Amino acid sequence: MDFELNADQKAVRDMARKFADEVIAPGVRERDIKHEFHADIVKKLAEVGLLGGPVPEKYGGAGLDYISHAIVTEEVGRVDSAVRTTLSVHISLVELTILRYASEEQKRRYLPELTSGRMIGCYGLTEPDAGSDAANQQTTAVKTDTGWLLNGNKMWISNGGVSDLALVFAQTDKPRGHKGIACFLVPTDAPGFSAPIIEGKLGLWSSNTTELVLENVEVSDDALMGEVGDGFKIAMGALDSGRYSVAAGCVGIAQGCVDASVKYATEREAFGRKIAGFQLVQELIADMVVQTEAARLLTWKAGHVKNQGESATFETSVAKYYATEAALKAAGDAIRVHGGYGYSNEYPVERFLRDAQVNVLYEGTSQIQKLIIGSHVTGVRAFT
Ligand SMILES: Cc1cc2nc3c(=O)[nH]c(=O)nc-3n(C[C@H](O)[C@H](O)[C@H](O)COP(=O)(O)OP(=O)(O)OC[C@H]3O[C@@H](n4cnc5c(N)ncnc54)[C@H](O)[C@@H]3O)c2cc1C
Repeated sequence: MDFELNADQKAVRDMARKFADEVIAPGVRERDIKHEFHADIVKKLAEVGLLGGPVPEKYGGAGLDYISHAIVTEEVGRVDSAVRTTLSVHISLVELTILRYASEEQKRRYLPELTSGRMIGCYGLTEPDAGSDAANQQTTAVKTDTGWLLNGNKMWISNGGVSDLALVFAQTDKPRGHKGIACFLVPTDAPGFSAPIIEGKLGLWSSNTTELVLENVEVSDDALMGEVGDGFKIAMGALDSGRYSVAAGCVGIAQGCVDASVKYATEREAFGRKIAGFQLVQELIADMVVQTEAARLLTWKAGHVKNQGESATFETSVAKYYATEAALKAAGDAIRVHGGYGYSNEYPVERFLRDAQVNVLYEGTSQIQKLIIGSHVTGVRAFT
């Protein structure tokens, strides 16, 4: 077992860290306060190759191994979870799903557009009445002579209003249940497609979150990814990939909390000394450090399994569950270290807390991760 990063991984880490600190971090507070999604950051990520992730170079990707992919995601998550959400959806839910399940023709058409940032992608699975119970898709796909007619509503879709391409899951044959679901590659400029913005979120203020409304959206036969009936399998495969990215992003939030807390505790004075000198403050920071390290190692372990080309569903759920809860706890504790100032947007930790919360919800809640882990080790499914 080797815990040392290799030279390539160190180079990727240094490049991603520099990019995060120099390009993403400077405007993060302003973007957050103004609730502004900045497409130029996505373009800049593409320019330095950070939109390519593990996608092979022949499709315009960066061909990264999965540890490097986690490191890039962590570095972005350390400074801005809204940009990290865009990255996770775009690379892990869209690019890697196309790479795994699409036809060669679809891969050649879409992957170079996505890895270059000429197109942004979104993933439309959740509906008003289908979240954890994703098989309960109400969006319909009806076969026509030339393709498919899509109708329905998606909810909580990250990148929804800034995307060019949407992965849309829809039911083709209701009596068949999850075996009737299909996945479609839908251009967002198709007539009948709209993406109303969702206002009033607790966090991720500069992430674009929308509904997707599909009213008689016509797509051609070649918009179908995989076979009719493969949709649920594709949706779950995509989430395996996306959850790995969420876990890595949360390692970043936790590390950001450690960094901010150490800085503050070694500057702030109370009772005539630096607050870092109080054992109870050190306890908060020590717990944060331990949980950050543990979250990182669990994420890298899942990455190691993915690098072997094996299914990492179990390891990914373990990492996602632990890292997301660790980030949420770290953010709360980082605010305690900062005292009253931690409650103000003068410091980043209040944003870390607001942004950390969604990670224990999206791409499968912590309860759903526990059910995946539980069913893996007991052999008994407890979902219904
Ligand atoms: C900011 C944001 C961005 C998002 N981005 C996307 C996106 O890009 N694409 C997309 O498709 N979706 C996205 N989502 C949706 C997200 O994945 C869902 O909200 C999430 O899966 C939970 O579904 P739900 O909200 O319907 O909650 P529900 O499924 O209604 O769950 C409510 C509660 O019941 C619990 N519960 C449900 N079933 C069980 C069970 N069997 N056993 C135990 N407990 C259970 C849950 O754990 C939760 O605590 C996003 C959500 C948010 C908030």
